Amino acid sequence: MRSLTVLSGGIGGARFLQGLLHALRAGRLAHLGATPDVRVDVVVNTADDLWVHGLKVCPDLDTVMYTLGDGIDPERGWGRREESWHAREELAAYGVEPTWFGLGDRDLATHLVRTQMLEAGYPLSAVTEALCRRWQPGVRLLPMTDDRVETHVAVPDPESASGTRVVHFQEYWVRLRAEVPVEAVVVVGQDTATPGPGVLDAIGDADLVILPPSNPVVSVGTILGVPGVRDALRGTPAPVVGISPIIGGRHVRGMAEQLLAGIGVEVSAAGVAAHYGARSRGGLLDGWLVDSADAGEVERVEAEGLACRAVPLLMTDDEATASMAVAAAGLVS
Ligand code: GDP
Ligand code: CA
Repeated sequence: MRSLTVLSGGIGGARFLQGLLHALRAGRLAHLGATPDVRVDVVVNTADDLWVHGLKVCPDLDTVMYTLGDGIDPERGWGRREESWHAREELAAYGVEPTWFGLGDRDLATHLVRTQMLEAGYPLSAVTEALCRRWQPGVRLLPMTDDRVETHVAVPDPESASGTRVVHFQEYWVRLRAEVPVEAVVVVGQDTATPGPGVLDAIGDADLVILPPSNPVVSVGTILGVPGVRDALRGTPAPVVGISPIIGGRHVRGMAEQLLAGIGVEVSAAGVAAHYGARSRGGLLDGWLVDSADAGEVERVEAEGLACRAVPLLMTDDEATASMAVAAAGLVS
């Protein structure tokens, strides 16, 4: 095995990648021919990206970069460790909106470098590569696209004539705390986006493709929606396996429950598996891991045409997460 490709969102994807790298370094995938120096390519969701105070912020890219580069705040799971918030306080003192999206002082440096490079004409993929020279994440981070793609969420608004208002995903998640019903999810700019450099090759040339337990709607779903990505997955000679972010009918953290319900997908491990579908039947996956608590859903997943096993899926530490990665790879070998 020479290369592995993972389609990642933020926290869920980053934690999984940490466990995967742990498994590789410990030789736990050696029986599949994966040496510790196997190449890991990570196609990262960029549809959460936003402009704040004139700066381009890429939450999922930064979460993966900081997590694998040992700069993450382990408690929050996002942003820099040993962070301070003086700039946020100063902005609040000026009464500048948005006040709901907090940028830490250390984190600000990343966004300043990124924005400067973008304004100088570099594409996001090149900027990401430059940022990673500092963080050395041990994987190649590939933005899903260099184009501007943004997830927006339609929420009820009694004050508007239509009864609905459309907000950026970050406003739905951070300001509204995902506490309002989701009427629709619209990924603005997706239809005309092109995959970032290296994205299609990373999928087509991989020996194994993994969908980590990232959000199926606003992380993996937005990557899959970039024209060409679904076809690359259907066409790759590599097996494609996924890991359920839903355990016992609930997400582990975040807002996948609300968003899955919002797009009409059953909130269960088997429901998400059916949503992705089996490659043998025109879908995207060959195998799917569900949590031990969902062992009762294995038969249903198999009936969809997927290889399936129930194993512990809580990413409590690197060791536990490494075991998930080994089990995922083992589904199809
Ligand atoms: P985000 O961009 O920061 O929201 O992160 P991702 O999209 O990569 O991952 C979010 C998803 O990870 C959520 O739907 C969670 O249910 C899932 N998740 C978080 N922790 C765990 C865990 O320990 N086990 C599993 N199976 N899923 C998890
Ligand atoms: Ca995200």
